[in-house]
Amino acid sequence: MLSFRDIIGHKSIIEHLQQGVQTGQIGHAYIFEGDDGIGKRLTARTLAAVMQCREGGAEPCGRCISCLQMESGNQPDVIYVTHEKSVIGVDDIRTQLCTPMEIKPYAGPYKIFIVDEAERMNEQAQNALLKTLEEPPEYGMILLLTNNRNAFLPTILSRAVLLSFLPVAEQELVPFLMERAQIPDYRARLAAALAGGSPGQALSIASSEDFRKRKDNAVSIMQALPDMSDERMALTAKSLAGSKEELDGILELMLVWIRDLLLVKAAGRKATPMFSQEEATLQAQAERISYEGIKGLQRELRLFEEKRRANVTAEPAVWLMLLHMKDCFR
Ligand SMILES: [Zn+2]
Repeated sequence: MLSFRDIIGHKSIIEHLQQGVQTGQIGHAYIFEGDDGIGKRLTARTLAAVMQCREGGAEPCGRCISCLQMESGNQPDVIYVTHEKSVIGVDDIRTQLCTPMEIKPYAGPYKIFIVDEAERMNEQAQNALLKTLEEPPEYGMILLLTNNRNAFLPTILSRAVLLSFLPVAEQELVPFLMERAQIPDYRARLAAALAGGSPGQALSIASSEDFRKRKDNAVSIMQALPDMSDERMALTAKSLAGSKEELDGILELMLVWIRDLLLVKAAGRKATPMFSQEEATLQAQAERISYEGIKGLQRELRLFEEKRRANVTAEPAVWLMLLHMKDCFR
């Protein structure tokens, strides 16, 4: 369901738009500028939904015919201008925007055109758009989404309201990523930093297949650890020692698991572990292991790190670490 509440960050832009909708002071043309994945498209769709909503509130109602059509992507008076080539040409703008703009809305109060990647419009396309921008019909609205305002002619810039979407702050991004991608906080922080404050990019890093596999691998090792067979232990040591990057990632995740174990041991069912999906396993392990045992797990990880720094061969060192960790559950 489209809702301004679900947009991560961009609070002042959203307030500005909501106020405009409520007071009828909304402009005919906006430029949403910001990095890829920052939230321009979601904001444009939500704005279109609230403007067309039959209930006329500050949020789309989510129930009226228009809101339902928005959800399914076929609100007839909200038009997404598409392009087949890398450039948005004059024909794209004429046939998908200028000409349809002259026809009154089908059912709603407005006719809204969303041009994604608008920086790809060439000069002829921009000139065609300009004619419509100069004298838009009362019902007409154009939303240009772009990562670069400098691609526009000054005449376009002067006729549209420019709203800049800034990087989303880490403290807003991290909880969002943790919930959406089901990842621990330190990993969400890393993804947020790598993505430069873009929720879309951060989500794609955080939910990447590599990361998911690594998480599943770490969970599987920690789940099995208390009763791990000699054979599996040897195989696990061999596979972890095979890749430094993989080993680093797994060790980080094991440390998070151990912290979770301590948390669950101390707070029981009131705990909210990072590995929230594995809460039952964590509860079961917390009942089996003593506080001394948890300290032992942490000590083994630390010892292993020291050995690595001293360039001890990885495979036997990983094996020994796993063996000692298993003993901590006795
Ligand atoms: Zn509605």
